Parts: sequence; structure tokens; C-alpha cells
Amino acid sequence: MKKEPFVTLEQLKEIIKTYPTPFYLYDEKGIRENARALKEAFAWNPGYREYFAVKATPNPYLIEILKDYGCGCDCSSMTELMLSDAIEVRGEDIMFSSNDTPAEEFVYADKLGAIINLDDYTHIDFLEQTLGYIPETISCRYNPGGVFRISNDIMDNPGDSKYGMTKEQLFDAYRVLKEKGAKRFGLHAFLASNTVTNEYYPMLAKVLFEVAAELKKETGADIRFINLSGGIGIPYRPDQEVNDIRAIGEGVRKVYEEVLVPAGMGDVAIYTELGRFMMGPYGCLVTKAIHEKHTHKEYIGCDACAVNLMRPAMYGAYHHITVMGKENEPLDHVYDVTGSLCENNDKFAIDRELPKIDKGDLLVIHDTGAHGFAMGYNYNGKLKSAELLLKEDGSVQLIRRAETPKDYFATFNCFDILKDLV
Ligand SMILES: *Cc1c(COP(=O)(O)O)cnc(C)c1O
Repeated sequence: MKKEPFVTLEQLKEIIKTYPTPFYLYDEKGIRENARALKEAFAWNPGYREYFAVKATPNPYLIEILKDYGCGCDCSSMTELMLSDAIEVRGEDIMFSSNDTPAEEFVYADKLGAIINLDDYTHIDFLEQTLGYIPETISCRYNPGGVFRISNDIMDNPGDSKYGMTKEQLFDAYRVLKEKGAKRFGLHAFLASNTVTNEYYPMLAKVLFEVAAELKKETGADIRFINLSGGIGIPYRPDQEVNDIRAIGEGVRKVYEEVLVPAGMGDVAIYTELGRFMMGPYGCLVTKAIHEKHTHKEYIGCDACAVNLMRPAMYGAYHHITVMGKENEPLDHVYDVTGSLCENNDKFAIDRELPKIDKGDLLVIHDTGAHGFAMGYNYNGKLKSAELLLKEDGSVQLIRRAETPKDYFATFNCFDILKDLV
């Protein structure tokens, strides 16, 4: 897929008059079109619901856009629950899919009326002791173990992952939860991440639907929803094909009719907890080239660093880069594009073929709308950038201001560092 920015150089020149680089920019139009397409792809299932994985892009302004398409929130921590509450996403509009969960987070999730998705068998007792009861609606996370394959490709390795219960534990969990008063059940699994294929969801659905039918038969549990979780990926590289959400929805429908309908479960709702698919392509990191360095390699130094976008440093992840205004120039230079951290892995690109970059050029780092800003940290005392929304009418809204030194020092209560800071 050809990678083109959703913003033009002229628009960026205007934006940087008000907001200095680096910053994140999000595309309202893209977010809306995609959310609409997802909703349509699963419209065959009357109970269908997307719970946006808040951890991917925890910005209330962006999540409010998704609310227009009926999305709820998938939360995994206290502050994500607080964020949901703040935008009036409460009750069963929240899926609490956490792991290694502290007691106070279960208490708060339950207070908000969230659906609790249990990661482990032992969490049944923990939850009961914490709350004093078991909620009537409850979900369990399944991990079938082994490796998850599509054809001959290993997609991921559930047997190595810390999440979820074994099949045996799952059956015991349903029985015990029922005895303890649970009335409505959900089933969840997340078996592969960033899948760039239309086959992942239908294959996962088959695994979950078959187990759900068995669970119903063996335990008599009233299964109300099956949560396919996240994992639909995006084409970070130009040579990858974009997933076809219609084909994915249709693939899940076929399995639903093959497995659930004959099992008398034709009223089960399908839930998803997509993060990357909802936001990834609709955000970019905009940075300026501020240095060039010629040593054993050719380097371009930017004003953003791994604090703003950690995926390349952390996973060696590819993010496409467009040098704005030079889209049609030959890719006749090979650069490492770096940030300023005192860490040699602080590189947005390594040996990347790009047009000649000059100091002052604006670079758009693509597909950073999910697991981008959110993963940032403060190493080297670097501050997190602003987040901006490019609205459908072409105007720009500041949806999170940049951090200031005052924010950075706010957690010290000694020394007079804060004295002169505004
Ligand atoms: C991270 C996560 C998601 C979202 O994953 P994506 O890859 O962004 O779709 C959904 N559910 C759970 C439980 C997660 O941990």
C-alpha cells in the first residue's frame, strides 16, 4: 500500500506557526471512516460492540469520537477506568480486561459497573474476597497454549504468554463462578498481535466459538458474549496489504453460522477490543530535522526521540517516514534517522532509503496513532509532546498540551526546583 500522509506540507507549515515540533497529529476524518466501516462489517450481529483499547491511545478527545459509533472502553488500569468515567463511559460500556490486577482496581471497576474479564482462575477467590461477592455478569480469558498458526505461518505463541486460563481451568472457572452467583458469562482470548491478514479473526472466532459451545453444554452457563479482543493489525510497511474489515466481519459471520447457530447460541453478541486498528493509521508524529552528521554512517537528527515514539527502539518496529515536500524525489540517500537520547537504539529508521534531507525539513513518521504517544516515557528528562487533532473541517485542535519542566518536576516535594517554573 502506498504510504501517503493525511496532512500536506502547506497545512503543516501553518500548524507549526502555533505548535512547535515535535507533536502528534490525528486525523478525525480517518478515525470516523474507519469506525463506521468496522460497525458496518459486524452489523449482522445485533449485539456487536467495539470496546476501544484505551491503552493504545488514552486521549479522551479521540475516544469521544469513537463514542459516536457506539464504542465502549476496554480498560486495563485504574487511570484508564478514571478516563472512561470522565467521558461518561460507564457500566457495561466498560470492559475491564486487566491482568495481575490490584484489589483496588477491581473495586473501582465494579463500582463503575464495568464487565470484569478475569485473567486467571485464582482471581475468582481474589475477586470474591475483594468485593464480598461475584458480579452477575463476568467474563473469562482463555489461553489455548501452543502456537497459533494460519496455514504454515506461526502468528504468535500463546503457550509463552502470561495471559489467560488453560481450557481445564476455564471449565472449572465457569462452574465455580456459577455456584458463586454469576448469571451471565463472556469468553475472551487474544492470541496474536498486529495480524496483517483477514484470516486471524475468523480463526480465533472458531477456537472461541467451539469452546463456548462446549462450555454451555458442560456447565449450562448462559454465554452472552464472545470477545475477540484486539490483534487486527495495520500495514506499517508499504509492501503490506491493508486488512479488509468487511472480509473479516464476513469471515466471523460464517464461523458464527457454522458453530454457534447450530449449538443454539445464535443470540450471542460479538465484542471486539481493537486498539491499533482503530487509531494506528490515523496518527502521525511530526518532527523536524535539526542536524545532519557524517561519520561512519549518514545520520539525520530530529527534534523527536524515542520518548515520543518507542516502538522502533523497543521492538525494532518499522515506521514509514515521509520527508514533506520531497515525496517525488529519488530515494538516493541512506540514513539513520535518530533522536537525541543517550541510547544508541534511539533511531526511528536504520539504513533507510530516503530523499536528501536538509536541516529544517519536516518529517512525518507514519502509523503512530496507537501504542505511540501512550508508550512514551521521560528518559533523559525529555518531555512528552503535544497531541493535535486535524478536524474534518481542516482546523486544528490542541487535545493535549506538551509537557513542561514543571510537569516533569511535579512529583518532587523537596528542593526548590519548582520555585521559578511556570
Ligand atoms: C492491548 C490489548 C488490546 C488491543 O490490542 P491491539 O493490538 O491494539 O488491537 C485489546 N485487549 C487487550 C486485553 C489488550 O491487552
